[in-house]
Amino acid sequence: MITRMKLLFALLIVSLTLSSSLRPTFARGGQHAPLPSGFEYSSYVGSARHLFEENRSYISDEVAQGYMTNSDLEKAVKAFGQRCSNISRIYSIGKSVNGVPLWVIEISDKPGEEEAEPAFKYIGNVHGDEPVGRELLLFLANWICDNYLEDPLARTIVENVHLHILPSMNPDGFSLRRRGNANNVDLNRDFPDQFFLINEDADARQPETTAIMSWLREIHFTASASLHGGALVANYPWDGTLDKRRTYFRCPDDETFRFMASTYSRSHYNMSLSKEFKGGITNGAYWYPIYGGMQDWNYIHGGCFELTLEISDNKWPSANELPTLWEYNKMSMLNLVASLVKTGVHGRIFSSEGGRPLRGSITIKGINHTVKAGRTFADYHRLLAPGGRYEVMANVAGYKSRNTCIWLEEAAMTLDFVLDPEVTLNKGGSLPRSDCECDCGNTSKLEFVDFIWGSHLGVFVILIAVVGFLYLLLLRRRNINLSKHRHP
Ligand SMILES: [Zn+2]
Repeated sequence: MITRMKLLFALLIVSLTLSSSLRPTFARGGQHAPLPSGFEYSSYVGSARHLFEENRSYISDEVAQGYMTNSDLEKAVKAFGQRCSNISRIYSIGKSVNGVPLWVIEISDKPGEEEAEPAFKYIGNVHGDEPVGRELLLFLANWICDNYLEDPLARTIVENVHLHILPSMNPDGFSLRRRGNANNVDLNRDFPDQFFLINEDADARQPETTAIMSWLREIHFTASASLHGGALVANYPWDGTLDKRRTYFRCPDDETFRFMASTYSRSHYNMSLSKEFKGGITNGAYWYPIYGGMQDWNYIHGGCFELTLEISDNKWPSANELPTLWEYNKMSMLNLVASLVKTGVHGRIFSSEGGRPLRGSITIKGINHTVKAGRTFADYHRLLAPGGRYEVMANVAGYKSRNTCIWLEEAAMTLDFVLDPEVTLNKGGSLPRSDCECDCGNTSKLEFVDFIWGSHLGVFVILIAVVGFLYLLLLRRRNINLSKHRHP
């Protein structure tokens, strides 16, 4: 009997050890899923980051003819900056492994300045062998520059949005004509993941990935899209699933994401007519799960609603087809950016004392996702699927939260919040509050003060009242006893 129990115990230990060691081995694979053409989950074990290395097809010079080289791209970006200097700014967010600057074009009537406006980013060429996006992004920038004075959509974007365009996230992969970067890492598997402990080591992270992550800390993006090739579909979160199964895995903002993805596919020449994807959109995990992707990381850690857009079945169409592909994607690209101000709920959060902006956050009842207000102007931009009733709540530490019910139509709605402090101090008092001024991660003492004087004040008052009542009761009993002694 004892031997049998020992055996069972040993088996249990062995199976537990095995299951825990196997788990991360397959962390980036979607082994039950159909794979994009040309890829194979072959030698995954021990080479997670080199997943797609072996199976790439050779891209000849002839195929790549007519596409911008990296130095052509740099020249085009700088030429754009000079030609459209009144509505743009050129900057770099870092360098690739081989030292190529990651150039960004910012388009706005006040480029480089902070305004109470949403910011959008387009990222092309995440995968080195998917070059259509980087070409189309230059088309997009130039078209806006040429048309914003007459075209209402272009004008809306220039005047009300800060549009940041990174034509190539992976210039090294492009020049090597392969998917991964110079270290042959798939950059769309290099981000920290919500389900599995991968890519946690910042030192091991690729410089291109690090550049994107720092960029999100610097600029408060409301939404974004990365451009890929090899399919024709607008893909939205989640990209992965908890158990690695290929299944529809909805994120808290599933409805909003479906609306965003449909905004792109419906404005596209033929994306929404797809036979493979209903309406030309798909949940990432339903298509095939990936781990360490950029899209989910943006939504979770950057608060940025990101789509992954597959814009061409053919990864390397002939360069003379690029103007046509631009025409197919033009309205989609413009409408997606403009939807940031043409739909959703927007506003600012103020203090009722003096009206200063409060950097708080916005939550929607029933949706487990928080949208932060901007640093300087406390402006918030909450994308939401139109045609719904929403309860919008503004929260700022040290202030009483406020909520308002709205019915959201197709058009955008403006909704400002004015919040009252939880405790009004005398004029000499300087109780710190956890808004932008002390949002620096060093708030332990302040949080304690807030804890006492904030939402727990009521509990304290009741506690003191109860203790006082008990004390009075005790006194009364003592008096009665005393009086009893006096009158035996
Ligand atoms: Zn791709």
